[in-house]
Amino acid sequence: MSIKISEMAGWREIPVAGVAYRPSTESKTGDWRSFRPIVNEEKCTGCALCHFFCPDGAISLVNEKAKVDYDFCKGCGICAEECPVKAIEMVPER
Ligand code: SF4
Ligand code: SF4
Repeated sequence: MSIKISEMAGWREIPVAGVAYRPSTESKTGDWRSFRPIVNEEKCTGCALCHFFCPDGAISLVNEKAKVDYDFCKGCGICAEECPVKAIEMVPER
């Protein structure tokens, strides 16, 4: 018997120590976030360091400015720590 990937449990349904078989792009981790990174485009130089450091691949460069995908950003703050010009501020989620 074969099981389609789409029929397997996602991360919300799996037990402790279980395994999620769905691709990580289906798990929108943004709802874990308690702090939100805000990019100051005036300060951003487009160096892309935040893109490379983000463990969730949630930052891309658009028109040479950092852009956060809030569906996947989980608010760890690494981008803000690593930005050499302090263009990212972490603010509490409402
Ligand atoms: S690390 Fe800072 S300056 Fe560099 S792209 Fe990201 S936000 Fe912009
Ligand atoms: S806060 Fe963390 S997950 Fe969100 S964009 Fe920055 S490095 Fe990525």
